[in-house]
Amino acid sequence: MQKSQKIAIVGSGLVGSLLAIYLKKEGHTVHVYDRSPDIRTIQFSGRSINLAMSNRGWKALDGAGVGDKVRHIAIAMEKRAIHVGNQLNFQHYGLQGECIYSISRGVLNRKMIDLAEEAGAEFFFEQKIWDVNLTDATLQMGETERGEWTDVKYDMVFGADGAFSRIRHRMQRQSMFNYSQDFLNTGYKELHIPANADGSYKLDKNSLHIWPRGKYMLIALPNLDGSFTCTLFMPFEGENSFASLDNRPKVEAFFAENLPDTIDVIPDLAEDFFKNPTSTLVTMKCFPWTYSDKVALIGDAAHAIVPFYGQGMNAGFEDITILYEMMQKYGNDWKTIFSEYEKSRKPDADAIAELSYRNFMEMGTKTADEKFLLQKKIEKWFASKHPEKWMPLYDRVTFSTRPYSEALAIGDFQESIMQEVLKMNNIETNWQTEEVENKIIQLLNSK
Ligand SMILES: Cc1cc2nc3c(=O)[nH]c(=O)nc-3n(C[C@H](O)[C@H](O)[C@H](O)COP(=O)(O)OP(=O)(O)OC[C@H]3O[C@@H](n4cnc5c(N)ncnc54)[C@H](O)[C@@H]3O)c2cc1C
Repeated sequence: MQKSQKIAIVGSGLVGSLLAIYLKKEGHTVHVYDRSPDIRTIQFSGRSINLAMSNRGWKALDGAGVGDKVRHIAIAMEKRAIHVGNQLNFQHYGLQGECIYSISRGVLNRKMIDLAEEAGAEFFFEQKIWDVNLTDATLQMGETERGEWTDVKYDMVFGADGAFSRIRHRMQRQSMFNYSQDFLNTGYKELHIPANADGSYKLDKNSLHIWPRGKYMLIALPNLDGSFTCTLFMPFEGENSFASLDNRPKVEAFFAENLPDTIDVIPDLAEDFFKNPTSTLVTMKCFPWTYSDKVALIGDAAHAIVPFYGQGMNAGFEDITILYEMMQKYGNDWKTIFSEYEKSRKPDADAIAELSYRNFMEMGTKTADEKFLLQKKIEKWFASKHPEKWMPLYDRVTFSTRPYSEALAIGDFQESIMQEVLKMNNIETNWQTEEVENKIIQLLNSK
């Protein structure tokens, strides 16, 4: 137990509410503020982004003793289901039957707030935080930016207020604060595959469904009620873009031609397409993440990444695991806790940002590319023969809790080896041979 402090968390999203549980466990007074209404009182009729939870996320939840309470709202996805033309190929994740888990962000957020309240955290909804005084951790809140603000002083403030963080906004006005923000010219839109009349699933339940199509891509993740939440990633402008699909007949013709097996399963296609917003995707990096022992950024507020590795929330949860490790190590010395937290975490946040961006470049094109699929097959085959020598990059990111920066470095080395292997004569037919096995071992030993 630490010396009890009065702590404010700005943001009752996934990261803010899990952090509240950890801080309560250490005996602090915890107030969580959110500008939005209480998500538990809002009807979202099951329509919200679905997230893939993997090992890093589970580790953080289990560390707070709430993993099992979340497991029953999660659906195991043991494989990718790749839809190409009218064909469906399954690619199992992991070598040991590992899974990732589909969870509705809205359902999870409600659960996390319930759990944080049970732990003793107090929530204040519809409270906009406009500013923070960094030197004495005073929050300024009020109805409007130009209206009257109330000051509330804390011992410490955490900015868990997402990619466009107000707390970070204040830190940005300090000298020596580095900041960058890059938007993709690809956006995303939600679509919906309802359950069958009897509540059963229209597609294989335990798969993450992907329709890779080059510059655009559709994915679908299962919900508990038999439906799937789909996300269409697509450029904003140009050929096959959100701008080009500007009326119902064009949308229907586009799906019929390019995603034919979705026509029967998305009954409200055109309606959803025009009703649901098109959202942007951003990578945001900044440093430092903390100010003295007073203010710290966490989750998307510190590092927003594009969603193509399914790691944003997992990375935000892992921030909490690392912060908690520092709390165990440095007791009540919050200055050291904060500086060691940001020092440890920043290279890993940058690494997962890079990996996620690379996956954006790869996922749309390469999941249907013959050479890429062959590479994955060779890696899987070699890894199953020599699990101590080779863990594929995806597994390292998703199913291990070793640092992301280590996964990136080893992944780059493995990629260079695979590029050599793919140059071998008749590799398409001879990939399961001793010659290939020895070549990989020789290249591994050459480092
Ligand atoms: C399309 C898409 C798919 C994704 N898929 C995955 C996935 O499969 N796996 C995964 O791990 N991650 C995924 N992510 C990322 C994940 O959603 C985020 O990383 C995660 O939600 C970040 O949580 P957070 O609590 O840090 O921020 P947020 O969820 O953004 O929460 C911030 C909270 O702060 C509040 N707030 C903001 N400003 C203020 C203010 N001034 N005053 C008071 N309150 C404020 C907001 O209302 C909000 O409740 C995906 C993201 C997208 C966009």
